[in-house]
Amino acid sequence: MINLVLLGPPGAGKGTQAKRLAAHYDLEHLSTGDRFRHHMAEQTPLGKLVRCYMDKGQLVPDSVTIAMLEEAVAQRVDARGFVFDGFPRTVAQAEALDDFLAGRDTGILRTLLLRVPDALLVARLLERGGEQGRTDDADERLIRDRIAEYESKTAPLAGYYARQGKLERTDGVGDIEQISGHLIQHIDKALSEHG
Ligand code: AMP
Repeated sequence: MINLVLLGPPGAGKGTQAKRLAAHYDLEHLSTGDRFRHHMAEQTPLGKLVRCYMDKGQLVPDSVTIAMLEEAVAQRVDARGFVFDGFPRTVAQAEALDDFLAGRDTGILRTLLLRVPDALLVARLLERGGEQGRTDDADERLIRDRIAEYESKTAPLAGYYARQGKLERTDGVGDIEQISGHLIQHIDKALSEHG
């Protein structure tokens, strides 16, 4: 299996790049944010539970998020691998993912960190809020709360994966195709090292 993690603050372009990488390597794109939004739209019990966190720009509790992610992976029995987008977001989630994948005789090949300056993130998210009607993207204060949440809880994952020798940093500013090209170079190199 080829499993990749896309890491970066909200607005870094994780979703865009995750879709492109999933298509390039024939992997499943798994976005926890998209799945939560789907549950909210369908008004499932999970959707009702997560709404209050998402509306405040806060992370959904680890236990809820990890259970949903594991179920989504388990459902796709024929997958060649996954591009995880927006997961993990805490060290506890990263540890749970490592354990879960180890139980399936696989693991993370690479974690790709997209770097984008804060001012650009805010501008990108406000634009997306207008285009896609995402309420958590429409309010600048909420956006700044999510960036702060990223800095305190998610940014430490860079160190977590760097210690495993799996982290690659890429500039997330510029042409979408060029950024994908850089990510693909990192992944191809990792694939050739792993035979
Ligand atoms: P995203 O679409 O990835 O920006 O996620 C939107 C929102 O969904 C986040 O602000 C969180 O409230 C929630 N969320 C998505 N993924 C996670 C995760 N891995 N852990 C906790 N909350 C998450």
